[in-house]
Amino acid sequence: MEDKVSLLREQFQNDFSKITELKDVEELKVKYLGKKGPVQELMLELRNCPPDTRPLLGKLINELKEEFSRLCEQGIEGLSASEEARKLLEEKIDVTLSGRTSFAGRKHPITLIMDEVLAILTGMGFSVQYGPDIDSDYYNYEGLNFPPDHPARDMQDTFYLSENMLLRSHTSNTQLRIMEAHTPPLRVVMPGTVYRNETISARSHVFFHQVEGMYIDKHVSFGDLFATMDEFWSKLFKTEVETRFRPSFFPFVEPGLEVDIKCTSCLGKGCRLCKNTGWLEVGGAGMIHPEVLKNGGIDPEVYSGYAWGLGIERLAMLRYGMKDIRMFTENDLRFLNQF
Ligand SMILES: [Zn+2]
Repeated sequence: MEDKVSLLREQFQNDFSKITELKDVEELKVKYLGKKGPVQELMLELRNCPPDTRPLLGKLINELKEEFSRLCEQGIEGLSASEEARKLLEEKIDVTLSGRTSFAGRKHPITLIMDEVLAILTGMGFSVQYGPDIDSDYYNYEGLNFPPDHPARDMQDTFYLSENMLLRSHTSNTQLRIMEAHTPPLRVVMPGTVYRNETISARSHVFFHQVEGMYIDKHVSFGDLFATMDEFWSKLFKTEVETRFRPSFFPFVEPGLEVDIKCTSCLGKGCRLCKNTGWLEVGGAGMIHPEVLKNGGIDPEVYSGYAWGLGIERLAMLRYGMKDIRMFTENDLRFLNQF
């Protein structure tokens, strides 16, 4: 019996020396001191020993039991303290560290200007309509009074997809679709991307954005067009802007006009932005050609209308003092982050 006690003590000490975690101590406690553990077994065996040896052996077993309990408690205390210390170390927060920078998305400058233009125009009573980027020759050219072989087609180098289909060269392709689908009065703006088969340079690109406006009703006159242009450009530049109209030619309007505004930088005195002319070209306009109205199913004897268009990139370049249209499509964050 004494040998068994010392053997058990040795086993326990061996196991105890290997523990590293709190749960190991708990397991050790159950293993040695549990109801079916070796200490309890020794207690049961005690009954079979000669009665005169029992008090001494009982004392030995009790001492062993107390020793195991005490060691386990010490182990628990020691490991709790070191685990606490380790946790504190691991979960330490350095409040002096700088925060993590997060990058928020933002709108592209073209989208910003487009939103602004559309907000002003819808405020003036225009509704917004979108047309297709891929369209037939009819809607882009023929129906707008550009017959085949008409020299005006050369003004816009076109991407043809087939003999009859193309990438629209202007947002004017939406005009006839709206006339066909609705009856006047029509007061609509048509924003979108347009495509030209041109050499990419600081001044021109193979695609850019336009907004086209159209108003058709009885007795629509040049006066309405001028008033609309004055109001739109003044609202856009948040100051009274003077407009100027010069005769020009576009097949789908008669007569056609170029729209200039007084230079917003020098107010007409002459500067680099306006090339010392005092004026900035901002778009084209005119009274809708009677043939175009007819093609759209509208009687030109009863109705008249004006149309005008502007380039969004051109406007953004004026607004931000930019000299290179390619900046808009190069995805350079140093540029985009400025808006
Ligand atoms: Zn100027």
